[in-house]
Amino acid sequence: MGTLLRINMTDRTYTLEELSEKYEFLAGRGLTSTIVHDEVDPLCHALGPNNKLILAPGMVTGTNAPTSARISVGAKSPLTGGIKEANAGSGFAPSLARMGIRAIVVEGQPENKDEFWMAHLTWDGDAGQAKIEFLPGDKYVGKNLYKVFPKLFKRFGKVNITGIGTAGEFRYGNSGLVFDDTKGRPARYAGRGGLGAVMGSKGLKFIILDSKGAPGVEYADQELFNKGRKKLTAALMEHDLTKPKGALNTYGTAVLINIMNEAGGLPTRNFSDGRFEGAAKIAGEAIFEGNKERLGKELYNHACSPGCIIQCSNTWHKEDGTELVSCQEYESIWSLGANCGIDSLDVTGELIRLCNAYGLDTIEMGTTLAVAMEGGLADFGDGDQAIKLLRKVGKGTPVGRILGAGTAKAADVLGVTRAPVVKGQSMPAYEPRAVKGIGVVYATGTMGADHTQGYTIAPEIAGVGGKVDQFDRDKADLARAFLETTAFIDSTGHCLFIAFAILDIASGFEGLVEECNGVFGTDWTMDDVGRIGKEILAKERAFNEAAGMTSKDDRMPEFMRIEKLPPHDVIWDVPDDTLDAVWES
Ligand code: SF4
Repeated sequence: MGTLLRINMTDRTYTLEELSEKYEFLAGRGLTSTIVHDEVDPLCHALGPNNKLILAPGMVTGTNAPTSARISVGAKSPLTGGIKEANAGSGFAPSLARMGIRAIVVEGQPENKDEFWMAHLTWDGDAGQAKIEFLPGDKYVGKNLYKVFPKLFKRFGKVNITGIGTAGEFRYGNSGLVFDDTKGRPARYAGRGGLGAVMGSKGLKFIILDSKGAPGVEYADQELFNKGRKKLTAALMEHDLTKPKGALNTYGTAVLINIMNEAGGLPTRNFSDGRFEGAAKIAGEAIFEGNKERLGKELYNHACSPGCIIQCSNTWHKEDGTELVSCQEYESIWSLGANCGIDSLDVTGELIRLCNAYGLDTIEMGTTLAVAMEGGLADFGDGDQAIKLLRKVGKGTPVGRILGAGTAKAADVLGVTRAPVVKGQSMPAYEPRAVKGIGVVYATGTMGADHTQGYTIAPEIAGVGGKVDQFDRDKADLARAFLETTAFIDSTGHCLFIAFAILDIASGFEGLVEECNGVFGTDWTMDDVGRIGKEILAKERAFNEAAGMTSKDDRMPEFMRIEKLPPHDVIWDVPDDTLDAVWES
């Protein structure tokens, strides 16, 4: 059935438990959220000894299911005060799954808050189980992750890594867990919700994972799994967004910059406009053309993690052809670009590189810099000032610590009322006044403002799964359907981007469910997807309610209800009844 690995950071011990029966068919987000719900006191301090940090690979992670190397990270969030799941693509996820470890639960914390340790997790072939050696991590504290990762690979060989940068060491509300990408860069993040601070509060700097000799994933019905895998693969290879040399493989997620700008939904200069005059200069098309010019050849994107056939992850190169950063995602370019009035890919690339070096969530960082600009700490559009402020965050100067605390807290300190947050977490790259469904998701979702918990942009903007009017306010049913389905997908270990193909190609959706049945021996149908997602959300809602959240927390900030957003001159006008209706069915 698999193993639960508990790591106690109070005394640096660990235990291996057989997964209990009630968790048998849970994985990824379903498992992290259930363990947080079952074991974490909702009223505990997120950075105290009673919070727990859970890492869980998905249902089909570790198999050759396409685009399935995601790991979910869960805890009580220091940013929202509620439950959190953030996931990342990395070889770390399949390596953990191949060891038969269904979840790592990190508990306790050392007495000395300045102590940092590494857990070196390997496979003991003689004992037929995983083992851990705890090693001092202090010599890597305060260092740039781009400098630390090569040292770790040199020391430990071919391993996978997760850990924190200075942001997590400082226990910032804006700090993520970093994971290695396919080239060993510290570039993939479970970024949102301040989960890096939870890891930092436990004195855990890195988990170094070496799965050599591990037995691999067991299948209940490998034939059924293969049937499903082939159907899903075929759908991904066929769909215009996900196929090789399709939109995502060519332009990356930044293909959305021009599209969202055209729709009037690209938040600009701290959510004061829905269009950015410099959008074309920072769009996916500009990345493709800019790389072509600097490298003298066309460059298609790569996989962030093993086995991804969509391959949306880009690299941006300097004028001399050397690599500046991977990856300039749509949301990162938006937050550090358009939302700060910055129209240079060299500047957004440098800002993203610094976020990776320090262990920061690029979305929360960009929205915080924009609030800082509005609060007078820098000018909109000034890339040099933005870089200087970000360096202060990485170094932990007094100003840096305020900005590292996240958008909501920085806005409070600076007296800025235009704080684009829900439940303490900043909004991503889609203006809810201009795209109402994603606003309903931001407002009502269990994770705070987070597009990945229900990507209604697919039908509202991209026309995937049928076109829906972006301004229509009656979006409770749409939001609920996306929230539920996403909770299931986040549990499978698949990247959310498979949703584009399975929404349009029914056989792909069937394949997804068959893959899961092939691993677990379940007989789920497509109807079970919504049911399972609903059950996960119910646990997350219950945790948030016990933590003190009410329907008043499912609301948008006041400025969106009174300030008209150009170019469509729209306000947030979705009635509260519609928001409440998301949870009434
Ligand atoms: S689609 Fe993109 S983000 Fe998702 S796993 Fe593949 S490369 Fe990573």
